[in-house]
Formats: sequence, structure tokens, C-alpha cells
Amino acid sequence: MKIFNTLSKSKEEFVPLEPGKVRMYVCGPTVYNYIHIGNARPMIVFDTVRRYFEYKGYEVNYVSNFTDVDDKIIKKALEEGVDSDTISRRYIAECKKDMESMNVKPATTHPQATQEIDGMLEMIRTLIDKGHAYAAQDGTVYFRTKSFPGYGKLSHKNLDELQSGFREIKVTGEEGKEDPSDFVLWKPKKEGEPFWESPWCQGRPGWHIECSVMSRKYLGEQIDIHAGGEDLVFPHHENEIAQSEAANGKPFATYWMHNAFLNIDNRKMSKSLGNFFTVREVGEKYDLQVLRFFMLSAHYRSPLNFSAELMEASRNGLERILTGVERLKDAGQKALGETVTAEEEGNLESARGLVAKYEAAMEDDFNTADAIAAIFELVKLANATVSGDSSRPYVEYLATTIKKLCDVLGVLTERKTEVLDGEVEALIARRQQARKEKNFALADQIRQQLLDMGILLEDTREGVKWKRA
Ligand code: AMP
Ligand code: ZN
Repeated sequence: MKIFNTLSKSKEEFVPLEPGKVRMYVCGPTVYNYIHIGNARPMIVFDTVRRYFEYKGYEVNYVSNFTDVDDKIIKKALEEGVDSDTISRRYIAECKKDMESMNVKPATTHPQATQEIDGMLEMIRTLIDKGHAYAAQDGTVYFRTKSFPGYGKLSHKNLDELQSGFREIKVTGEEGKEDPSDFVLWKPKKEGEPFWESPWCQGRPGWHIECSVMSRKYLGEQIDIHAGGEDLVFPHHENEIAQSEAANGKPFATYWMHNAFLNIDNRKMSKSLGNFFTVREVGEKYDLQVLRFFMLSAHYRSPLNFSAELMEASRNGLERILTGVERLKDAGQKALGETVTAEEEGNLESARGLVAKYEAAMEDDFNTADAIAAIFELVKLANATVSGDSSRPYVEYLATTIKKLCDVLGVLTERKTEVLDGEVEALIARRQQARKEKNFALADQIRQQLLDMGILLEDTREGVKWKRA
């Protein structure tokens, strides 16, 4: 299995630290709002990586954190007049709901930064003792980048360049730094912020230290794969490497995987630019299986542009697979013969070839786009060859194989019967329009259609309300 490693900028053969096991850590979201579909890309991509390893028989220990102490959370808490915990608890719960609706498996462990402060204090202490960190006058603790010779190896930057770059940027409040490229491990509290006691000052951790600590606690000092979006390469992952390797005296992760951005109008989707759609919003318009299928229709290291056209194409692609699976199910319910014909033997040979093609695509740095193409070919083969005369083993092989390969991508092959809010609202709007045009027959027909879908309408003075029966 080949994985593109950001460290070496090349595809490398996957060799686990321990045979049959994969230890992987994926940086998770900062929880101050609903996640957007850009945040969903690493979730879907690395969940698929995990599923593929499991398909190959590996036992995967998958850790993904929630960053629950951060300026943005504190700001949101102040705006709402509640404490930070209320905000992070709410959005962790919402994020888990979104993950479930995208069929992203829960991690083996989902640690939270605020629950791991002791571990962070201990790692910071170790770094100070080893000369890799120092406390400034005001109690801020900085990592001494010059003390770590490998600094820059992930982002392929050299420290001198970095330092001259940083020199241009003067950050107020960081006057105590020995060097401009040093970064914060611990910082003093500000008025109204959550804080913890520490030997240096009452304060809170910098962002990077949490991942080094949680990764070590739940996966050990050395891990196989560390992953996240490409914006995390520098400084976040570079700093994680410095902290972990300086503290543990061992290489940290063997493979560093980074997904490219989900863009909109060719710009990165992000909260700060305001050009985002939340998973929740997209879920009102589309079955989130379509979103998952869309995300996997491109290679994870290629930028992907979100658009209605591509979502429609994904919906159609997924539909083709679901229809194929349904046809196989119908065929399987008929009384079929048990003997595989010579012609079917030939087709089975082709089908096995397509499975091999699928696996080869996945083993070439998780090329899900080509893997999906192999599934389409299997569906095409099924559509062209299955009939009332087919044998049971032949139909069953195709049905279970297509299902299994979709399952590895986390794509469900059962059609959802759940009715989406967006669909209901669109129908209600059409009914209102019909009533306005005095087309009561159509209005009644739509009311009945909604009733058949299990949706009850109530005409109130404030407008139409609806609920599920
Ligand atoms: P954040 O909450 O911003 O720390 O992001 C959580 C995860 O989502 C990180 O792995 C980011 O790299 C990733 N991410 C954020 N925005 C995008 C985007 N537009 N496309 C792909 N990944 C993203
Ligand atoms: Zn991280």
C-alpha cells in the first residue's frame, strides 16, 4: 500500500510500526459553531482511509481531538453570555450528529483539550528540563525552535528563512521570545478567560501542545499516521513534530497525510472568509450520502470545488449504484438456479478483475476516484448480465461485492427513506403557490403527497407549520 508522505514529498510503501495494527491521529475541529463542509473533507477522507485499513484486516486505533479551548470559543461564549464549556459541549454534540449523518465512524477516542491539561503541563515541564523550552518574564512558555534541528522538515522550510520571515511580523505581547520563530506552549490568562494553574502562570495552553500530548497518551510515543487538512502543515504539524520529538527523543509519526482544500469559487471554504456552507445546511438540500460521494469523487490531494452541478452529478452517480444494487436484490429474490454457467464464470473473472482494480486504486495513495470508477464498472457488468436466468451464486457475488466495496468508502447502498426538511419545505412552498393561484385541487394533492410521506401540515395564523407523523 502506497501513501503520499508530506515529510518526503513522495509516495512510500506503508510499513506499520506493529504488524497488523495502525495507529492514526487526525486533527479535529475547533468547536465554536456548526462544522462546515470544508471541515467535513478530512473527516470523510480519513474515515475512508481507516475503513480501507480495516477491510485489509488491520486493527485501527483512530484518535481525533476536539479543540475546546480557543479564542474563537471564548469570543462566542462572551457574545452569548455563557461559559466556554457550554459552547464547546453544544458544538461537540452537534459535530457528532453531523459525523453520524455523513456515516463517519466515531473515533476510537475523541479526546478534548480541556480534559488533558495535566498531560500538557507535564510535557511542557519535560521540554523546559531538556532545554527545548523557556518561560518568559510574564509567564509565557515558548518552544525554542533553534534547539530542535529538524524544525522545518515537514513544511520543507529552512529555519533561517523562517526567522527572516518572522522578523517582519512583530506580534505584540510576545516580546519575551528569544527568537521570532519560537512558538507558544503556555500563555497567561486574560480577563474573563478560562485558565488553569501552572508553575509559570495562571493561564491556558497554546494550540499545538494538545495534539502532541493526546497523541502520546492514546496512541503511544510513535504513531503510524498523522493527518489533517493541508493548512495544518505549517505551523501546526511542524510544531507538533518539534514538541513530540524533542520531548520523547523518538520520531513522531511515520506518515503525514494532508487533504487539499474544499473550495468554493476556487477559494478555500473557511469560516473567516464567510464563504461556507455548514454540513447541516447541505443536509437540508441533499442526502449527506451524496456529499460523501462527492468528496470521494476526487483524489484527497486534489483541490475540490463545491458546486450545485457537481453535487447533481454525484447524486446521479450514487443513484446509478443504488438502482443497480436494488435490481440485484430483486433478482436475488426470484427462484434462481444454483449452477454457475460457463458464461457467468467468465463474467465472475471480469468482476474479480474489477475488485483488483478497486484495490489497486485504493492502494495507490487512496485514489477513491478510480475506486469509484471500478464500482461503476461492476454495476454496469451487473446491469448487462443479470436476468431472470442468472444463477444465485452469480447474483449474490455481485450484490455482496458491490455492497462491500461501497461500505469501505462509507457509502451506504440501502436507499434512505428518510424525508429531508428541504424536500418538505419545497413542497409546502409549491402548495402555497397553488393556493395563491386558487388551484385548490393541486394544493390538496400536495397535502396528500406530504401525508403519504408522513408529514402533517397545520395551517396557522403565522403560516404553515409541519411535523412528522
Ligand atoms: P479547524 O476547525 O479550522 O481547525 O479545521 C478542522 C479541520 O478541517 C482541519 O484538518 C483543517 O485543515 C480542515 N479544513 C478546514 N477548512 C478546510 C477546507 N476548506 N478544505 C479542506 N479541509 C479544511
Ligand atoms: Zn492537531
